[in-house]
Amino acid sequence: GVSIEIRDVVKRYKSTTAVDNVSLTVQPGEFLTLLGSSGSGKSTLLNIVAGFIEADAGTIEVGGRDLTKVPPYRRDLGMVFQHYALFPHMSVWDNVAFPLRRRKCSRAEVTARVQRALDVVELGHLAKRRPNQLSGGQQQRVALARAIVFQPQALLMDEPLGALDKRLREQLQLEIKRLHRELGTTFVFVTHDQEEALAMSDRIAVLRDGGVVQVGTPVELYERP
Ligand code: ADP
Ligand code: ADP
Repeated sequence: GVSIEIRDVVKRYKSTTAVDNVSLTVQPGEFLTLLGSSGSGKSTLLNIVAGFIEADAGTIEVGGRDLTKVPPYRRDLGMVFQHYALFPHMSVWDNVAFPLRRRKCSRAEVTARVQRALDVVELGHLAKRRPNQLSGGQQQRVALARAIVFQPQALLMDEPLGALDKRLREQLQLEIKRLHRELGTTFVFVTHDQEEALAMSDRIAVLRDGGVVQVGTPVELYERP
């Protein structure tokens, strides 16, 4: 895992300051959650780290390298969205292979890596299906496989379980935790659900009105007398 250093990041829209001078360090291999209610700036901040949104001020360093001006596809970060963003016309296999083919990996490497990523999310047996032939939970596991298949330096997840029912959400929480343990990669996870944050995180950064108002372990934030 790599460190992620968010320094003095600001993003304004006309009448709103979506991200209000945020500085935050994610440790190598850490599972950090951005927790806050709707509109608190979580998604904007995550998308600035990913490179999909350009900040008005501040810098993003990953593994000590300044990525502020680097386009998203060069940042070597895996991203999972709330709505799976799978390619509907492609099989599961081809969805997961996509980032590797774009990176011009050899055919043998594509096969080996896709196989492994699908095994990790236990979807090897559904490789030939299209996304619309899968359940919501299975689709989100495909999105996870696609995000880890090129062994990114860090994995960014924007409310990845927000569209799932409670039972599936709890199951996927455990799977994502297991994935984190197995990969040892730095994870940045976004949720508005306090219980989910407590269940999953090494540390939680609480956002309100675009600012970080608290940072700490689940125990530090919620279980201290
Ligand atoms: P969260 O992910 O915590 O729900 P967002 O990062 O989506 O919060 O939004 C933070 C604030 O910025 C909100 O007030 C939202 O309305 C505003 N905002 C986000 N994106 C845009 C945009 N493209 N144009 C205008 N305002 C936006
Ligand atoms: P090409 O490079 O000519 O597209 P591939 O060997 O990548 O050929 O695969 C051809 C098709 O077979 C792919 O589009 C993919 O959907 C499917 N495929 C390849 N390997 C597997 C596999 N192990 N399991 C399921 N489907 C596979």
